[in-house]
Amino acid sequence: MRHYRRFLLLLAMLSAATFGMAQTANDYWIAADKALAAGDADSTFYYLNLFREKFGRQYAYAYTTFLTEEDYRTLHYDARWTAFMDSMRTYKHETEDKREISYPKKAVVEDTNAPIVKRYDIQLNIDVEKKTLTVTATAQIDFRDRESIDLTLWKNSTINHVRYKKKELTYSFGTKAKSTNTYIQQGAPLRLTAPQKKGICSITFDYTCNLDSLDTWMSSMEKDWVQLGYYMAWFPVNSDSRDFTANVSVSINDGYTVSGSGIVERMGDKWEMSQPWGGFDLQIVASPSLKSKKMSSDGRTFEVVYTDFADADADSALVACSEVLQFYTCLFKTNPSNDYMKFLVVPSRGGGISRKNFIAYATKRFNEDFKTAIGHEMGHLWWNKAPIFSWEDWLNEGFAEFSMLWYIKCHFDKHVFECYLEACRENARHACPIYEVDRDAPEAYDALYNKGALLLYDLEQKVGEQRFFEFMQGVAEREITSTTLLLDYAEEVFGKEIRKLIENRIKS
Ligand SMILES: [Zn+2]
Repeated sequence: MRHYRRFLLLLAMLSAATFGMAQTANDYWIAADKALAAGDADSTFYYLNLFREKFGRQYAYAYTTFLTEEDYRTLHYDARWTAFMDSMRTYKHETEDKREISYPKKAVVEDTNAPIVKRYDIQLNIDVEKKTLTVTATAQIDFRDRESIDLTLWKNSTINHVRYKKKELTYSFGTKAKSTNTYIQQGAPLRLTAPQKKGICSITFDYTCNLDSLDTWMSSMEKDWVQLGYYMAWFPVNSDSRDFTANVSVSINDGYTVSGSGIVERMGDKWEMSQPWGGFDLQIVASPSLKSKKMSSDGRTFEVVYTDFADADADSALVACSEVLQFYTCLFKTNPSNDYMKFLVVPSRGGGISRKNFIAYATKRFNEDFKTAIGHEMGHLWWNKAPIFSWEDWLNEGFAEFSMLWYIKCHFDKHVFECYLEACRENARHACPIYEVDRDAPEAYDALYNKGALLLYDLEQKVGEQRFFEFMQGVAEREITSTTLLLDYAEEVFGKEIRKLIENRIKS
């Protein structure tokens, strides 16, 4: 997945809003945006310079957002823009050079023999009016000789039964306890005692969820938009289970259309979602105005699902998907095994998520941000083999971000590419090492995404395009899952010196 700097920046600026009549950084930025939209360059620079004078040092890291902001590009050839950006860059470097690099570390602790869920078969009833879910979920659990399994479930759930072969099981559900899963802030820990330690147990959970207080990223229970998934734990989530299959049978109020991360079909008054490929999430979305457009290309089907989005923009998104797919297939050779890809346009807050065969991205229109998001997310069709909950995730995120950079280099204006490349360099400039960074710390973003992408870009510059992409093809073909394997392979292809170089870049 990829975050959007402007969005994060706005949140930071809003939370720092001052009292009284004083203008906030965001006020100046909005005023500049309005002036720009009105075609008034003089006023735009007036407000940008006020922003710089009053908040430029505080929000110096906004420099990279200004670099890639599509709407500001018409100003790039104005001398006032160059002066503004030079000054912002100076502020950024001065601020960074005064501050020590923060480096939160977390070495990988892999519990390879933890209990896991292999499959879910779920009956889900959504009542949008009452904001409730009624769920019967049967999970195939392999306890692997352990006494219990730790799950996370939506905090305002009432559990009616947890059964194995019609017998009630012992469990503890800490609705007042803090979530033990950092990705699920509104979840509560559910510990279930194993009815037997060996073999796979088919365990049925019966519960209702009250979603009145739902306030989680990529989640919603509003009349015009319902979105349920991993981040709010509408199903019992186990953090070690990343490769389960599932079937979800959904019923919902009349007039709603349902879609989700699997293949969804209407069957009478229900919606059946099958997810025959392994994954860690079950996304379900619904809206009275849900629409869909499909396109087939090279035996692959792309689908765009959307509500608050223009039909013509959905067409543009489909064209971009097929363009990016063809481009990466040429670059990385190995065909991704997927022959189906769904693109969900989320009508709410920013950001995006990527799952196997499924991408959700929040936007209102098809713009450059959306196009680059497709560039990054489609990269995950190739780069998705490494563990995502540790620093090794740079093998997914750094590689996807690099793919996006290369897509921009080959499909966008040269100047646009230079802006993105400089933004990547500047974001990496004061970032901590990739090696053993705590994946859950905010510092991990620039390390894994920007330092990772830049490492690959600089490697290409050093060894040349042909050798570099042969290497990338090998990484994709071998399905490399760890940095150690990547370094071994780099040594095999390029020799000891390049291995050392990559290693240094990862560790510094
Ligand atoms: Zn990503």
